[in-house]
Amino acid sequence: MLSIRDLSKTYANGVHALRNVTLDIPNGMFGLLGPNGAGKSSLMRTIATLQDADSGSIHLDNLDIVADKPAARRVLGYLPQDFGLYPKVSAEAMLDHFAVLKGVVARGERKTVVEALLRQTNLWDVRKRKLGTFSGGMRQRFGIAQALIGNPKLIIVDEPTAGLDPEERNRFLNLLAEVGEDVVVILSTHIVEDVTDLCSRMAIIGQGQVLLTGEPHQAMQSLDGQIWRRTVPNAALEDYKQRMSVLSTRLIGGKTTIHVLAANRPEEGFEAVAPDLEDVYFGRLRLQAATSRAA
Ligand code: ADP
Repeated sequence: MLSIRDLSKTYANGVHALRNVTLDIPNGMFGLLGPNGAGKSSLMRTIATLQDADSGSIHLDNLDIVADKPAARRVLGYLPQDFGLYPKVSAEAMLDHFAVLKGVVARGERKTVVEALLRQTNLWDVRKRKLGTFSGGMRQRFGIAQALIGNPKLIIVDEPTAGLDPEERNRFLNLLAEVGEDVVVILSTHIVEDVTDLCSRMAIIGQGQVLLTGEPHQAMQSLDGQIWRRTVPNAALEDYKQRMSVLSTRLIGGKTTIHVLAANRPEEGFEAVAPDLEDVYFGRLRLQAATSRAA
């Protein structure tokens, strides 16, 4: 269990990136969902011991991550958002190098570890290829191989599916799902489907604040009977947005379908639909925006 308590961070430029973030993250896949600029990377980098918060604490079971960074790094696997690689080095050689850095010094052991990870991430057949020739999906799978060196207890992946095509994304998410249920895996993303497909628990963060935490299906249930759908002419969209709480607009077969949040049927022509995680997400962000406008 990862326990985060009252984590706050203000950057030198005055941006308040984290505001009293408190989260309990059990073993398994945890989705951290928020729009660009919400503070996800700031939180991920702080947990990964790469930057300090101004105040607050982080514990992985009994390990104090803030106070004992070397110990934290030994149990941590991190796939950062911007993942620089040497383009001329082969996947195998690069992974071997990372293994040395991670403290897997004995040559024989390292060979075994590197081979197992290349096979697990389905990169064995391309292990001799230069990283510069890898597709986005292959790079991300390599990133997971690198993060898994040394059997980490805490794995952090920051926006891993951005820019992947659907097939690569599926492959990547399946790999992540296999990583195990006896470790904490935090998946930071602005893509709602990543969380719907993969995570048993999640949090939504906006403007540095935790807006909601729990199980996705419970969060969806909490909106039961309040989500209404209608296909509208494109020209009328702005009018609906003015008059109603429009959570999302989707273009389906050239027609615009909107989801509206309302306690009762907003008007004739709307039908009730089962809430999905996008409804939860956009509903919560809207509420925060309305609250901060009122303040
Ligand atoms: P996210 O990962 O959710 O997009 P970030 O943690 O990257 O969010 O950013 C949160 C806020 O902090 C943004 O307003 C961003 O511009 C700002 N920010 C991030 N890193 C820095 C930094 N090193 N210095 C100043 N401001 C930063």
